[in-house]
Amino acid sequence: CRPEVAQLAPYNAGLSTEAVRSRYGAETITKLGSNENPYGPAPAVAAALQGLVKQVALYPEADQKLKAALAARLHEPASCILLGNGSEQIIRMIAETYINPGDRVVTVVPSFGLHIITAEAMGGQVDAIPMTPACTFDLPALMKAVSTPLKVLIFANPSNPVGCMMKADDMRALFAACPPDCLIVVDEAYYEYARFDATYPDARTILREQERPWLVLRTFSKAYGLAGLRIGYAIGSDPAIIDSLGRIRDPFNTNIAAQLAALGALEGLEHMDHSTGRTVEAREKLRGEMERMGLTVAPSYGNFLFFRTDRPSGDIAEALLHHGVIVKPWKEAGYTHWLRVSVGLPDENARFLAALQAILHPAP
Ligand code: PMP
Repeated sequence: CRPEVAQLAPYNAGLSTEAVRSRYGAETITKLGSNENPYGPAPAVAAALQGLVKQVALYPEADQKLKAALAARLHEPASCILLGNGSEQIIRMIAETYINPGDRVVTVVPSFGLHIITAEAMGGQVDAIPMTPACTFDLPALMKAVSTPLKVLIFANPSNPVGCMMKADDMRALFAACPPDCLIVVDEAYYEYARFDATYPDARTILREQERPWLVLRTFSKAYGLAGLRIGYAIGSDPAIIDSLGRIRDPFNTNIAAQLAALGALEGLEHMDHSTGRTVEAREKLRGEMERMGLTVAPSYGNFLFFRTDRPSGDIAEALLHHGVIVKPWKEAGYTHWLRVSVGLPDENARFLAALQAILHPAP
C-alpha cells in the first residue's frame, strides 16, 4: 500500500458487545465506549421506516427531501448541505478533496482519531496541539500554530474525548489568526448536548464574519440515536465548497433507511430534546459521584466524561471489561491514565460506578 497508509495508526473502535460477552463471560454488558444514545431514536423514526422493504430494491432518493428538511431547520440553502455516510465519511471526503502531500493540517490532541488519520492518509502533515493540563483548548498554542501556512484547521467543539468547549471569543480570535484561504472545519458532533449551555458559540455566525471557506459537521448518530444507520451532514460556507466535495462523493453515499430515519428523527424533536436533556443531567450526577471517588474529571459539554485514575488507562479498561463494562482508554503521550465513559441510562451509570469502585477501592 502507499507509504502514508502503511504508517497510519489504526482507528480504535473498541470491542463489540458480542466480543466482550464471549471473551470476558460477562452476562450484562454495559456499553459506554462509543458515545451512543441510550434512549434510542424518536418514535417517529419507527413510523418513517414502516414499509421500508418496498423501497430497498431502488437506489435511494429521499436525500433531496432530507436536505430540504435540514435546510429549513438550519436556515441554510439546501445547496450548502452535504449528506454523508456518517460524518466520518465527510471527514474523509474533506481530506481527499483538499489535502495534498505535505500540506499542513492543524488540530488538537487528544481528539477524534479520524481528524488526524484521514489527513495523514493523504500525506498531510498534522500539527496536533495538546490541550492544556486543565483540559481546555490551548488558545495561545493554537493561535501560534495557525500563524504558519496551513491548509485545514479541524477540531471538534465540544471536543471529543476531552469534552471542553471553545467559547465564541476564542473561536473568533483563532479564526482571525488563520490565513484567509485556509479551510476551517468545526466538527459539532455533540452540538445538541452543548446547546443547553448559554455560552455555546454559534460557529456558523462567527465563521460568516470573515470571508473564508468553512464547514460545520453534524451527525444523526448521537442526539438523534441513529448511529447504526450511518448518517451525518455538513453545512458549507457556499455552494462551491459543497460542489467540490460532491465531485468525490460516492453516488448514493447515504442509504434509503438512513435517509428516511433521519427525516423521522427531525419530526421527533421533542424526543431528542428530552433524551439530550436527561443525558446532560445524568452526566453532572455521574461527574459528582466520580469526583467523590477521588477521580479527576474534565468538565464536559458532550454525552461523555473524560477522567483520570492513578493507574494506566489500559489496565482500568481491561478490569472494567471483566465486569462487562466497556469504556474507551486513551494511550497518547500525556493521556496514558485517562479514559472516556459515555453517559448511559441511570442503571448503566450505576453499574459503571460500582465496577470502578470495586477496581479502585476493593473491599478488604
Ligand atoms: N466527529 C466526532 C467528534 C465524533 O466523536 C464522532 C463519533 N464518535 C464522529 C465525528 C463520527 O460520527 P458519525 O457516526 O456521524 O460518523
